[in-house]
Amino acid sequence: MIICPSDDLDLSRFEKSTDELEVLYGLPRKVMFCATCNMSNQQPMSSNEYSHNSASTKTTLSFDEEGVCHACRFNKLKESGEIDWDERERELQELCKQYRRNDGSYDCIVGGSGGKDSAMQSHLLKYKYGMHPLTVTWSPHQYTDIGWKNFQNWLHVGGFDNFLCTPNGKIHRLLTRNATLNLLHPFQPFILGQKTFVAKMAAQFNIPLIFYGEMPGEYGEMISHKTSSYANGRSMVESEGFTLDYVGGRDVRDIYLGGKQIGAYLDEGVELVDLMTYLPVPPEVLEHKGIDFKYLGYYKRWVPQEAYYYAVEHTGFEANPVRTEGTYSKYNSLDDKVDGFFYFTRWIKFGVGRAMMDSAQEIRNNHIDKQEAIALMKRYEGEYPARYEKEFLDYISMTREEFLATCDQFRSPHLWKVQDGEWKLRHTPWDHTG
Ligand SMILES: [Zn+2]
Repeated sequence: MIICPSDDLDLSRFEKSTDELEVLYGLPRKVMFCATCNMSNQQPMSSNEYSHNSASTKTTLSFDEEGVCHACRFNKLKESGEIDWDERERELQELCKQYRRNDGSYDCIVGGSGGKDSAMQSHLLKYKYGMHPLTVTWSPHQYTDIGWKNFQNWLHVGGFDNFLCTPNGKIHRLLTRNATLNLLHPFQPFILGQKTFVAKMAAQFNIPLIFYGEMPGEYGEMISHKTSSYANGRSMVESEGFTLDYVGGRDVRDIYLGGKQIGAYLDEGVELVDLMTYLPVPPEVLEHKGIDFKYLGYYKRWVPQEAYYYAVEHTGFEANPVRTEGTYSKYNSLDDKVDGFFYFTRWIKFGVGRAMMDSAQEIRNNHIDKQEAIALMKRYEGEYPARYEKEFLDYISMTREEFLATCDQFRSPHLWKVQDGEWKLRHTPWDHTG
């Protein structure tokens, strides 16, 4: 699908000289691509979504003096001998021994959708390490058939207890629409709910240990490979997206959801009880109950393709019979009809699409090389997610024209230009003049 600028857009913003082009979101003006994995230096890192509004700026993936990104450097450490995986295995055994309960209660909790990563994680803990995990799931906006099937197989084939939380659909639609209009981030309400649900259930059931999956450094977050925990106490040590205390003493009315303050929702008649499911557990509750957070990826070497094979074998996981739009893969985040728009909107805002994300990760894990990745990106990067377009647009109550016009408001002129009436990125890994 060819995408042209919307009718009332001020195109003069995109027609200035390179040095005068406006740069949105505090992104680096100079676009660079990692010398190893092609990933762009515009790739944003995690931030505190409860402060996210239209004026927020981003921290982005850092590059070293050789032009290599932090995610690549981090992944090299996994195989360089820097990390003693046998020692990490012993640490995991020790951790499990410390927390294991045999009194009929759960001793750890894993959040997930039944995708390859949560499937492998929970299965290893239960069947290899003798733990008693509860699994919990925050529902996608709209399940795909394959997503629902994998979710069911995770529990029925894999063998787990699970709680599925489906938030108030009217409120979730409202927040998703606002997050799209105000932030071009249709996935934000889902992410907030998912992030906080696991900790809430741990508190509810007095489960002392929460397992997350891969270490954030895998994606370039500046969190050391020596950090096993999600957050050390209340204040974040290294990255603002990984703290326990997101609210930091603010009045609840001042917290942002979908780029709009809770006070504004309340003034319009939304009830606080319908928004609580998106808010984090107070850190003092987690501290009082002694709930600990660990990355399983700290203890076990994380290779996404191996997680896929593991999940196929042990939890009945199936890849999608059709290719995922915007990329070439068939087994990454398949369960929500909105997924494709999450990646598409990131491509609009940061020039980082789903094929770049997938191929960079596969390069870092030595599955494909840089040239193969470029061929795949040339073919699929930025592809419009047409398959579930109707469901998505109905969900956020927009027409295609309104959605694309919203996208245009979020295009940063330092990334985009109009060529022959069509939107084009100024810089791509295969056509990059620096
Ligand atoms: Zn890289």
